Amino acid sequence: MEEPFYRNGLRFSCQRCGRCCRIPEGVVYLTENDVQIAAEHLKISRDEFLRRYTHREHKHRVLNEFSNGDCIFFREGRGCIIYDARPEQCRTFPFWKQNLRSKEAWESVSEECSGIGKGEFYSFERILKIAAGESEAT
Ligand code: SF4
Ligand code: SF4
Repeated sequence: MEEPFYRNGLRFSCQRCGRCCRIPEGVVYLTENDVQIAAEHLKISRDEFLRRYTHREHKHRVLNEFSNGDCIFFREGRGCIIYDARPEQCRTFPFWKQNLRSKEAWESVSEECSGIGKGEFYSFERILKIAAGESEAT
């Protein structure tokens, strides 16, 4: 079997540009764990969190957005206001399985994300853990 292109690791350090929080067609899917953590962080009940900040899209629970497409938790100049409790989808970006499926896919997402190729080194093992949702990117 062919070696994954990231066998020798990858570099990534978020530049806090906010671009991935402001994708008009972007959707942040929530797990039950995401909901619990964010609700606790905001010191509100799970039900209040669901009512104020989320809606259903087909079978999925997703974060609301402002009318311009920005994530409901994104603030200009501050970035994510629930950063320490951000959902798994956000904590694992850009090490998503679909971005790791090929070098081309990784290079394509690097055109959108200025943190790719910079700063912190992620080993192969660490990348696998993040992609599996068992760890997070920083
Ligand atoms: S993950 Fe990438 S696109 Fe998102 S804020 Fe960080 S540098 Fe910007
Ligand atoms: S929850 Fe935070 S990190 Fe995730 S998209 Fe919204 S603002 Fe960005």
